Amino acid sequence: QSAYKSKSTIFDKIISKEIPADIIFENEKCMAFNDVNPQAPVHFLVIPKKQIPMLDDASEGDQSILGELLLTAKTLAKQRCPDGYRLVINNGKQGCQSVYHLHIHIIGGRQLNWPPG
Ligand code: 5GP
Repeated sequence: QSAYKSKSTIFDKIISKEIPADIIFENEKCMAFNDVNPQAPVHFLVIPKKQIPMLDDASEGDQSILGELLLTAKTLAKQRCPDGYRLVINNGKQGCQSVYHLHIHIIGGRQLNWPPG
């Protein structure tokens, strides 16, 4: 793996509570916390505790955690954004991924535009 895909990221430090985050949900498999640089009134991330750098790295064996991430995102989003919301997974350089620990962005709380550009 290249340096920018090095295994340990800032999100591992959030998982281990080495650095603080505004955590809104946590169980043994995943965690959700507010994005430090929100792009909308609601902007949080759902991440697996397992180190999966990017969606490209997910495999058959990750089926249940991928399902759990999506259902967790849905449950939290439905409460916070009753009028609708958007899920985004940035993957790789052209996808504008900056943290190489898989995460789903949940964005809402205002009218969003489509296409995103
Ligand atoms: P990406 O571009 O990789 O899809 O998104 C990474 C997201 O993580 C960005 O929206 C960025 O604001 C957020 N982020 C980066 N570092 C931290 C941090 O230390 N704490 C929190 N809460 N969010 C972070």
